[in-house]
Order: sequence, then structure tokens, then C-alpha cells
Amino acid sequence: MKPIFSLGGITAERGTKAQGFIKVLDTGTVMPVTLINGEKQGKTMLITSGVHGSEYPGILTAIRLGAGLDPKDISGQIILVHPVNLQAFSKRCAAVVPEDGKNINRMFPGDEKGSIAEKIAYVITNEFFKAADYYMDFHGGDLYESLIPYAYFSGSCNSKVVQASKKMSQVLDLPYMVNCMETSGTFGCAAMLGIPAILVERGCNGLCLKDDVEKYILDAKRVLKRLDILADDSLIFPDKAPLELTNVCYTEAKSTGCWLPAVTAGQKIRKGDKLGYTTDLFGQIIDTYSAEFDGVVLYHCASLSAPKGSELVAYGELDW
Ligand SMILES: [Zn+2]
Repeated sequence: MKPIFSLGGITAERGTKAQGFIKVLDTGTVMPVTLINGEKQGKTMLITSGVHGSEYPGILTAIRLGAGLDPKDISGQIILVHPVNLQAFSKRCAAVVPEDGKNINRMFPGDEKGSIAEKIAYVITNEFFKAADYYMDFHGGDLYESLIPYAYFSGSCNSKVVQASKKMSQVLDLPYMVNCMETSGTFGCAAMLGIPAILVERGCNGLCLKDDVEKYILDAKRVLKRLDILADDSLIFPDKAPLELTNVCYTEAKSTGCWLPAVTAGQKIRKGDKLGYTTDLFGQIIDTYSAEFDGVVLYHCASLSAPKGSELVAYGELDW
């Protein structure tokens, strides 16, 4: 509980919530934000959604949490951003900020003198991360990606933060969690700054299914309860934690072509199994792709069009 909780010009008094738009420096771009200032004392959770503006279940989850959580049940503060990338959301644009063509998730910690994506990352790092004790970033498969639900936590920061991040992941009702050594994305950057952080992936292909959103909301609430931020006795915790994956292969297109996947999201694969192939626009095979180790497919490109360098399949190493 804080008598007054303020961020970016929005202010919530103790036991209330406040909503509004936070300006991104001099860009003219804004982010819709809900601040919840709980009745009791506790930690501050930051939840961002829509860093990729067409990953809808996470965005709707953050909107629903902002509208539905009652400050009476909250010990501490919650900041919800829904969505971060409003420009992309408005234009149904995948992966990037339409104005500069950059992926916000690759721009951290950001640059106040950079383009819009870099400025958004800068504001999240310097205003939102500074206010947060914990961080959850809601993603999903993009318009062109098929995906099974899973989560990332940072394995590259100090061990206390790694353990706290892992503890957050362990209450998620998901089959897998990835121990990730990347530090350039949202949760990796936060973790390097000492904030336990996770990134959740659920839903894909531009769909916003009721089931995905309901499960997303429950996952978020379980994390909030585990951290003693939310009081909710109705929550049931999963029997077992997600299985930890430490080695993920992101197979990229060697050249531009038509992509024909041979696997589906969630499928278990053996070393040498065919992942798919690309053809030219006349149907002639350009490249075939095979698994480098036994594992499970986390997501794959579901679009026929596969530009050079784009991700075709991501699979985690799994002994099965
Ligand atoms: Zn994403």
C-alpha cells in the first residue's frame, strides 16, 4: 500500500485504481495503463501485454485484469499495460511497430533518442521497471505462428533473481518453461536489472479464444497470489510445475521461399526428423530442415511466406 501511487501522470490513491494513457516521450504514441493501488502493503507487479500488437489473448487478459481486480484484494501495487504496442494493435500489424519496422522486444533497454520502438523500450525500462518488484510480459504466437503455451524465465542474471523468476514460472499451468540466457528482450532486461521476470506465451494465429484468455487470467492470478499480492482463496494450483527446457533451437529460413512445415506445435520429435521444407514460387524444393536433437516443437511458422532469416521452427531439447 502506498498513500499515493503515481506513474507517468496517472495517480491512484490507496485502495483505488486509476486508468489512462501514458505518453511515449515526444512520439505522439501512448500506452493504455491501469494502476491498482491495493488497500494493504506489498510489492509492485508490472504486467505488460501486446509488445507484439497482434498477440491478442495476453492483451485481453491484461485488459480484464485491469478492469476486474479489486484493490480490496490487493496487497501492494499492480501496473498493467494493455497493449504496449498500440500502433501495431490498431493496424493489426505483426511483430513490429509499423512506423519504424522494429521489434520492441529486440530494442531493450531502449534509447530515448531512437525511433519509436526504441523510445517505447526506453520508457518501459526507465519508468516502468523502476517502479516494479516483479514483472510478467504476456505474449503468444503472432499472426503467422502456431504455438503451444509455455513460458520463459531468465537464467542469465544473479542466482537470487533466477530462483525468484523460476518460482513465478512454477505456478503456471503450462507444459514447459524455458530457462533463457538472452538478456536483450523485455524479461531478460528486467532480470538483469534485478527484477524477477517471466514471459508467457499462450494463443496464436491472430485468434483470441475464450479458453486461452481464461487460462491466461488464472495463470496471472496464481503468480500474484504466490507473491502475496492477490488474496483469492478460490485459486487452485497445478499439481506439477512446467518441465524446464534449457536448450532451444530457433531454425531460421536460409533463403526466401514458400514454407511447408512437417511438424505441429507440441509435437515431440527425434534427432533427424524432418521439420519442413521450402520451395520457390514454382514449387521446386529449395531447402529441407531437420531436427538437430530429440525435443518438442514449441512453435512454428504457419505462414506460407517465409522470408530469409525468419524463424521457421523453435523446438526445445527434451529427453523422451
Ligand atoms: Zn510476442
